[in-house]
Amino acid sequence: MRFTRMLRVGAAVAALALAAACGGGGGGTSGKSLAQRAKDTKKLTVGIKFDQPGLGQKTPDGKFEGFDIDVARYVAKQLGVDEGNIEFKKAESAQRENMIEKGEVDYVVGTYSINDKRKEKVSFAGPYFVTGQDLLVRADNTDITGPDALNGKKLCSVKGSTPAQKIKTDFSQQAELQEYGGYSECLTGLSTGKLDALTTDAVILAGYAAQNPGKFKLVGKVFTEEKYGIGLKKGDAEGRDAINKAIEKMISDGAWKASLEKHVGPAGYKIPDPPTVSEK
Ligand code: GLU
Repeated sequence: MRFTRMLRVGAAVAALALAAACGGGGGGTSGKSLAQRAKDTKKLTVGIKFDQPGLGQKTPDGKFEGFDIDVARYVAKQLGVDEGNIEFKKAESAQRENMIEKGEVDYVVGTYSINDKRKEKVSFAGPYFVTGQDLLVRADNTDITGPDALNGKKLCSVKGSTPAQKIKTDFSQQAELQEYGGYSECLTGLSTGKLDALTTDAVILAGYAAQNPGKFKLVGKVFTEEKYGIGLKKGDAEGRDAINKAIEKMISDGAWKASLEKHVGPAGYKIPDPPTVSEK
């Protein structure tokens, strides 16, 4: 009898310890809104891309820069968190929902398209930018003119991304799709000739083309619409509304356009009008 009671007490203590362990730290497992956590701790953990020039990039000296980074920082500031108190974590395309669900990050700003499938697992604020899927080929290529001209071509995209999914659903007959973990791996394959094309959002491809002058070019036939959102824990309506407000402010006070002109404009990408923030 006494032994079972001890077991029961032991189990309760273990459960409490586990709950405490999960509730702490940068993540969203405490059930509190990220807006409240930001207020309480003055810290945030944000998932970003490390290898997307102009958008989300970790520089060789360990700094972070790009339009997505500016958005992440602007939002944090509006939530009461200074730039120096943001911990950036690498969030590869296939890992984003998982990292948000597990509470490893408070939010993700990483060329993250809003769609219904992802909304089963996470919530989105935004959109804060709209682009579309295109193809990147070597500068001397002439036969890849669009997604319908991929017959027998070796095409690369990234696991867990919407462009890879689009190829599988609509163009799998033509293209020989290879899915890698990140876009920089695709880029290596494209420059060595192992791959014929890389597909993802045009704004990302423009950054790669600009980073490697004379080597690659965009085909220029956009065939999807990608609305970038900020991913956060599913059901955190307070957090989503606070982020939506921050995005609207960034657009209205000119910081949105200034950041795009600084980071995306030099790649030759035409800066679009800002979208209407509509996620609820
Ligand atoms: N926007 C697309 C997506 O969310 C492609 C870019 C990316 O892989 O981050 O999947």
